[in-house]
Amino acid sequence: MNSTTWTCKCGQVALTVAPDGGTRAVCYCKSCRAYATRLGASDILDEAGGSDLYQVAPEAAQFVKGADKVAWTRMTGKGPARWFTTCCHSPLANTLPTRAIPFMTLQAAYLSQKDALPPIKIRVFEECATGPVPEKKYGKGRLLREFALRSVKSRLSGGWRRNPFFDDAGKPIGPKVPLPE
Ligand SMILES: [Zn+2]
Ligand SMILES: [Zn+2]
Repeated sequence: MNSTTWTCKCGQVALTVAPDGGTRAVCYCKSCRAYATRLGASDILDEAGGSDLYQVAPEAAQFVKGADKVAWTRMTGKGPARWFTTCCHSPLANTLPTRAIPFMTLQAAYLSQKDALPPIKIRVFEECATGPVPEKKYGKGRLLREFALRSVKSRLSGGWRRNPFFDDAGKPIGPKVPLPE
């Protein structure tokens, strides 16, 4: 299978990711921006403060190395679980605190072969952007619809159980921690 690789800044954590079947979107919300900035990774944001995200089915990504070097945090009480590497504080992915809902969004900035990924057609939360946002084709509706379709497939096939951020018993593989200061 064709794959692209997600690699942290220092190279100790890597995952293979299927470059197709996912949804690429840029999110301009304040939580995504604060997560990157507080981890010292504001260089991955675009000129309007957006985060380039690649949303996939959980079974589309697998650790190659460094699964013991990840932790997660929450920016707000109800926000997603935001994973990052403990070796070099690279923002990694968002999931929910449970794998039952097959939601996974990877930080596209650290993916290799970005031309193999779908082009960016979706932009969301532009109202929170810090600068002019490039013209978009689609918004939240399209993002939700593609997520819903993928989720149904993942639930029906049982693929949701192969979420790399949860162990066989469904427990998160890394600790929940406060964001590093
Ligand atoms: Zn690292
Ligand atoms: Zn966001």
